[in-house]
Amino acid sequence: MSELKEKPSAENPEELLDLKVTEPKDWAAGVPAVYEALKDIFGEAGLVRGIGASLKMNQKGGFDCSSCAWPDPDDDRSPIAEYCENGAKALAEEATTKKLTGEFFAQNSIAELAKLNDYEIGKKGRIAQPVYLPAGAAHYKTITWNDAFKMIADKLNSLASPDEAAFYTSGRTSNEASFMYQLFVREFGTNNMPDCSNMCHESSGTALSEVIGIGKGTVTLNDFYDTDVIVIMGQNPGTNHPRMLSALQKAKEKGSKIIAINPLQEAGLTAFKDPQTVKGFLGISTKLADLYLQVRINGDMALLKAIEKLLLDAEKDNPGKVFDREFIEGSTVGYNELIEHLGKQDVSKLCESAGVPIEQVREAAEMMKHKHRIIICWAMGVTQHVNGVDTIKEITNLVLLKGSIGKPGAGLCPVRGHSNVQGNRTMLIWEKLKGAQADKLKEIFGFEPPRKNGLDTVESIKAMHEGKLKFFFAMGGNFLSATPDTNYTADGLRKMDMTVHVSTKLNRSHLVHGAEALILPCYSRSDKDIINGVDQIVSCENSMGVVQSSKGVLKPISDQLLSETQIICRLAKATLDGRTKVDWDKYAYDYDAVRDLIAKVIPGCEDYNRKIRQPGGFYLPNGPREQKFKTEKYGDKAAFSVVELPVHNQGNDEFVMMSIRSHDQFNTTIYGLEDRYRGIHNERRVIFMNPKDIEKAGFKAGDKVDLYNHHDGRERVAKLFVIVSYNIPEGNTATYYPETNVLVPINLVAAGSNTPVSKAVMIKLRKHQA
Ligand code: SF4
Repeated sequence: MSELKEKPSAENPEELLDLKVTEPKDWAAGVPAVYEALKDIFGEAGLVRGIGASLKMNQKGGFDCSSCAWPDPDDDRSPIAEYCENGAKALAEEATTKKLTGEFFAQNSIAELAKLNDYEIGKKGRIAQPVYLPAGAAHYKTITWNDAFKMIADKLNSLASPDEAAFYTSGRTSNEASFMYQLFVREFGTNNMPDCSNMCHESSGTALSEVIGIGKGTVTLNDFYDTDVIVIMGQNPGTNHPRMLSALQKAKEKGSKIIAINPLQEAGLTAFKDPQTVKGFLGISTKLADLYLQVRINGDMALLKAIEKLLLDAEKDNPGKVFDREFIEGSTVGYNELIEHLGKQDVSKLCESAGVPIEQVREAAEMMKHKHRIIICWAMGVTQHVNGVDTIKEITNLVLLKGSIGKPGAGLCPVRGHSNVQGNRTMLIWEKLKGAQADKLKEIFGFEPPRKNGLDTVESIKAMHEGKLKFFFAMGGNFLSATPDTNYTADGLRKMDMTVHVSTKLNRSHLVHGAEALILPCYSRSDKDIINGVDQIVSCENSMGVVQSSKGVLKPISDQLLSETQIICRLAKATLDGRTKVDWDKYAYDYDAVRDLIAKVIPGCEDYNRKIRQPGGFYLPNGPREQKFKTEKYGDKAAFSVVELPVHNQGNDEFVMMSIRSHDQFNTTIYGLEDRYRGIHNERRVIFMNPKDIEKAGFKAGDKVDLYNHHDGRERVAKLFVIVSYNIPEGNTATYYPETNVLVPINLVAAGSNTPVSKAVMIKLRKHQA
């Protein structure tokens, strides 16, 4: 049984790397981004393989970047580099020529591998063969695909109920694989389909479905070039969606203003040096944020209410000039209730609660007062709070008051993190299969799908502890590192009879396993998938609802890899043989036939095979984009919401901690140990603190501390962090994810969406104890 590694090096728990702290940058990208991108691609893949792949990434007819879900331009794309530094790093990890064969696993026990940190594990290379860990064994060993499928099928068929299994999905899985995956799971008989969306934008989906009738954003990329004001909340695009900076720069050139709202002053929100322009290459930056509101962690709702109240006052002075009365009267409900609620608000108190000077809030309101083309973007800094769903309703209130929805240059923009996370949901990867969707599956396939809700991510982890789950299957991802309360989750996984991961590379989740475990290696997005001599395409949906094809270009590192679709179809055949209504053999090798199924089942995907082959793909239908609303509660109207401010109970010796990504990482994948925009080098176990807080707590920058959380009366500890003095609001701290997931309580979740609250964990600091 392997141990979780909580310290920098299990060989020497006191060891920290050589942390170097420099001044944070006030601009993003530039020549260093190009250098880092090329260094990584060529270093891992070599010159020929690296150049060949990079020229095809995010191109029409090429392959989709497997990193974030930021959209590609609808029209012309750069022929040289339609990708960013992080896209290049993701490609480098896929295109690496390092591969892990049976020999590697014979030489490296799980216990030995578990001593490595996540960065070192990830750098080992691509998994080249299916491998199996027998109960009690110390090493994975090779297994044939047929034996692997039979073993998993036998285990699934031995369960007392299909609900003893959970099937997780990470956001990389293609639409074709997602559709067949959910079909298999539903025919097997469960809705236990937790996914990564449960942990990121579930709050957005929950709020938006209720108030505008669709759980997605409403803007297109072109709206950014036709807008007056862009508000960016709780999002760090310079690291997490770097090509968004090009869109912001273009928006600025066209006259838009940008308001950034974030607890940290991020380089990527401040200024951008576009390395694809002469100006950027020469080091001349474009200022991005015109106004930077350095809000306190989770002060967003108070700030939004303050802005709305100031706009209401202005509307009273100039009726019909500030709010869009025609839109409000014709297309919304709940206006009077909201106005009554806003009327009772005290702007000074709201600003105090938000931690933003009132003058700056007035400036923000002034920037929006006479504008009606407003886009509001947000990400995890908004969604991963107890009141995440309510804050998104408050964002929607502001957009509805201004009539800034369903018209060019205006709308709501939840920026998705993983490349096909939105497509997974469109393809019915969700623990809540709706009645109409179940009816459709029954009509097309002739089996009775399960009707009761399955388990989401947090519920699945709890069910592992309660003995309700015995089997865990992960389609991609790094479940253990992505989820909260790491030690609790690890214990849950260890209670499983069997854990199975479909993966490209080794990760922590392979090393903390059930009694038996398998790793099934699959193609990455950039790998060629050739069937009967023909290069195959798959399809993905980006953050703005565009579905397009993706065709890999790289020779796979092993002939032992299968596509995710083939893995699912062959496993489904092995599991359901004799009782299935689906021709799994056919769909394993005919993705056009899979797409014909998608066309029959998923609204908006009619004629799917033709539409995804159009250069640039096609937009899925989106009613609110045309001011057409269809909500369950409010009929054909969008709804204003009256939501209450969160209560922050923070003891004198407590700090609010939010987890953040470094610039050298994407989700759980650690590309390197640099966070150059924030000036952190060669170490990840740091805690960013306000200098006044450091002094008040009796520490100094550079001190080593342990971090504690005591939610629900259980002590959680993350050991050995170095204090870094940083520009962050007093009382707030930031640490890197996934190192501090160990502190995120499993029971601290967003109301309504059950999303773990990774952005507001109450912690205490103590001097480090060995
Ligand atoms: S912005 Fe996102 S999708 Fe685009 S290249 Fe960068 S990481 Fe990939």
